[in-house]
Amino acid sequence: MAATAHDLTRTVQREVAALVRGRETSDGAGVRLRRLIGSPELEMLDPFLMLDAFRSDDPDDYIAGFPPHPHRGFETVTYLLAGRMRHRDSAGHQGVLRSGGVQWMTAGSGIEHSEMPEQENGLMSGFQLWINLPAEQKMSPPRYQEFDPEQIPLEGHHDDGVIAVIAGTTDHGTEGAVRQIAAQPIYLDVTLPAGAKLRQAIPRGHSAFIYPIEGQLTVEGESGGRIVPAETLAVLGDGDSVHTRAEEGNCRFLLIAGKPFGEPVARSGPFVMNSEAEIRQAYADYRSGLFGRVEE
Ligand code: FE
Repeated sequence: MAATAHDLTRTVQREVAALVRGRETSDGAGVRLRRLIGSPELEMLDPFLMLDAFRSDDPDDYIAGFPPHPHRGFETVTYLLAGRMRHRDSAGHQGVLRSGGVQWMTAGSGIEHSEMPEQENGLMSGFQLWINLPAEQKMSPPRYQEFDPEQIPLEGHHDDGVIAVIAGTTDHGTEGAVRQIAAQPIYLDVTLPAGAKLRQAIPRGHSAFIYPIEGQLTVEGESGGRIVPAETLAVLGDGDSVHTRAEEGNCRFLLIAGKPFGEPVARSGPFVMNSEAEIRQAYADYRSGLFGRVEE
């Protein structure tokens, strides 16, 4: 993954470095999910601390939701593919996230929030990604960027593909809805018909991964390319761009990248700081009410 391993004078296509299946677990009050980043198989992919995928049409898997809990020191990104989720927080902010919408919460110095399903049956599907903040921004004021599906730029592709641009800029110049994030993220939701290709630039040295939501794709490369099956996370090696080709039917996938911070990480539950002392401080501050409380 080191940039120095490549000849810096020519462009390099990123290839699959590892495939991660993740593992089934539960979080919150018992929401079933698949943890792709943040488990022993892949503890983190700096700056990404955690990635959970949830998808179920059995209310028992999600109905308990995520009752009030705090966060400090990083960002949580919720992207809903199906369903409705109500969130409330200690700053008096609340709203309903629906299919295709995204909530990018920069927890910063601390917030308490709840995330509860606004549905009693039907399909609930989506992702939660945790992205680190650099030390100098961990205690910044909490902030949100929240978008309904209609507000997320869509880029049509010449061969009927379409890209929802949540963050970052595509090779064709479409700028994402979410701006001014420390990790300079790319977050794309791409749908390609069979055989269609997509090229996307990703800055050298940034961490990147692909996750096919449905269908499978090939990540092309000098060594012949590698197939990424559905619901499998493909960590990409370093390079300047990624070249993908959809296989068999429509392929829908997430392409996500971000700048690693290379700082020490101390994490405990909902807090991600740089040292154990800062973690202890976070628990003390939360217990003493500094984060405020969610008003039900
Ligand atoms: Fe949360």
